[in-house]
Amino acid sequence: MSPVSSKKTTSDKQMPVSKKLKLGILFSGIILLAEFIGALVSNSLALLSDAGHVLTDVLALSLSYFALMQAKRPSNFKMTFGYHRIGVLVAILNSVSLIGIAVFIFYESFQRFQNPPEINAGLVLPVALLGLATNLTVALILHHEQKENLNIKSAFWHAAGDALASVGVIISAVVIIISGNYLADIVVSIIIGLIISLGGVNIFRQGLRVILEASPKDINLNQLADSVKTIPGVKDFHHIHIWSISPEIHALSAHVLIDDCPVSQADDIRQHIETILKESFALSHVTLQMECRVCRTNDILCQLEIEQKPHLHKHH
Ligand SMILES: [Zn+2]
Ligand SMILES: [Zn+2]
Ligand SMILES: [Zn+2]
Repeated sequence: MSPVSSKKTTSDKQMPVSKKLKLGILFSGIILLAEFIGALVSNSLALLSDAGHVLTDVLALSLSYFALMQAKRPSNFKMTFGYHRIGVLVAILNSVSLIGIAVFIFYESFQRFQNPPEINAGLVLPVALLGLATNLTVALILHHEQKENLNIKSAFWHAAGDALASVGVIISAVVIIISGNYLADIVVSIIIGLIISLGGVNIFRQGLRVILEASPKDINLNQLADSVKTIPGVKDFHHIHIWSISPEIHALSAHVLIDDCPVSQADDIRQHIETILKESFALSHVTLQMECRVCRTNDILCQLEIEQKPHLHKHH
């Protein structure tokens, strides 16, 4: 169960989120360029892997910014749910690119393991230090917002993970300078590759859950139904659909069985249910069908079937 997050962000008087994201993209873009050139000149795969990781950060930050802008677009007659899922689609594409980068790192590590090339660790060290400083700055900029917005949260953890990867590159550079063992570069590359692929798989699964209309992970449907059934006047709660329009917007539709009573009284019950669903289960879009007779589909779940004659529009 997740607490409701409808309260205004406390950072309204500070820099807006979109500006923070733009700043993060700028910083990450600069370090991406520095690490990429540094990796080519020094021949360090660890630094190139780190550059690959920073590239994923730039993608993640850009995605968060894009999703933020798309989410602001109003709904219209063609898109009654608005444009929230465009961000989800881009996230899935982004995750596939993360996995691709990881595969490249593993392949290159394997090639280098058989024949470790010489690396200019003296150049790797300052570039990695610069990367660490920049990633810590980006993580710090996003730190406040990451509790409020799932998209920003993923961008924050990208930056935090990359700071960690920079530490790995620094360690490998120091090991090479002290011992001259170039294998350290490969070991760190593989670790960074693992971090990238884990992030990719995680984002892919999360995006897929939204596309497949999965129930939000942190909502227990039995617990939810029980909470609603304890509300005075509610005799049954069934035909429940729960889905996510985006990772942050959860929706529910359901049937509510009540006594035959004035509409005003039914409306009070409906409001009570909506309040519980919003405050205890973070369901921001709720549609309820009030009933006073046991209905045809009174199972807790709805079994969707393709109508034989779709032109009749008979579906619930
Ligand atoms: Zn609505
Ligand atoms: Zn019903
Ligand atoms: Zn249904």
